[in-house]
Amino acid sequence: MKEIDFTPKLTGLFGHPVSENPTVLMIESAFKSLKLDNWRYITLDVPADNLKQAIDTIRLFKMRGVHLTIPHKVEAMKYVDVITKEAEMIGAINTIVNDNGKLTGYNTDGKGFMTSLQKDAKIVELKSKKAMILGSGGAARAIAVELAIEGINSLTIVNRTEKRGLDLINDLKRFDDLNLNFILWDHEIDINDIDILIQATSIGLYPNKDLPKIKYDQLTQNMLTCDLIPNPAITPFLKKCESNNARLLDGLGMLVYQGAIAFELWTKRSPSTDIMKRSLETFFQNN
Ligand code: NDP
Repeated sequence: MKEIDFTPKLTGLFGHPVSENPTVLMIESAFKSLKLDNWRYITLDVPADNLKQAIDTIRLFKMRGVHLTIPHKVEAMKYVDVITKEAEMIGAINTIVNDNGKLTGYNTDGKGFMTSLQKDAKIVELKSKKAMILGSGGAARAIAVELAIEGINSLTIVNRTEKRGLDLINDLKRFDDLNLNFILWDHEIDINDIDILIQATSIGLYPNKDLPKIKYDQLTQNMLTCDLIPNPAITPFLKKCESNNARLLDGLGMLVYQGAIAFELWTKRSPSTDIMKRSLETFFQNN
């Protein structure tokens, strides 16, 4: 006889505010396609002051794990038992996995971007590449660390607030062979020598149509331009880069792949990223 178990395998998302976050759609589409009928993903509004209690409930309710979003990615590091080496270097976690009460914090954002770089932009060799990142926030940090781990030749960090940019540069100095530059963002930036340009700020987030201040006439068809903003996938920045002949990589891939990596950590199953992506595209088209 089949064993009866009405207790679901629980996963979810802690954030604040979080009610408009559509991650549940892509994770539950993957549960469905793999017939993981007993798995659930719940979106939970957790104010900053309640984060510790919320993380305690992961153990209490034997949740398999959660995603973390704004404002919890840094603070949550205090309340888990183990942090991966990459997440430690990035200084933030976006995924928790619960192994019988032992909580491990991961950061899948940067890995999500790297997967998109390989699968969507077909960039596999980084040792000869020069990248520039606009911004030094959480997403920029995650990507910078993963690019450094993969042995990118050089990284130029461009940021409006000097201290935040220099803090990131300092954290990257542990990578001995990495050429590092910082540019204070108070003028239009030269991009002449860059292979991969990554827009990791919220400039141009819908409905805003601002463009990051760079010298667009220096773009060429050999350059890959990336914007992390996932919706709409073709941002004002990417439109402008396309009209200057550059190659494009949107932020939807990163969003899907970071979710797929978390999904695999929780379920030990490989989800269809096509199905996950389609669920988000459908939502974004209709909202
Ligand atoms: P943070 O708030 O941590 O960092 C924001 C960064 O943008 C800072 O470096 C900030 O500079 C810079 N910035 C913001 N506004 C301006 C401006 N007007 N001019 C110049 N610089 C500006 O945000 P995150 O790193 O978490 O997110 C950044 C972007 O990445 C967001 O648009 C987010 O939607 C996207 N993202 C996408 C993900 C995906 O999976 N596709 C995952 C995570 C994020 P300063 O230090 O000077 O304030």
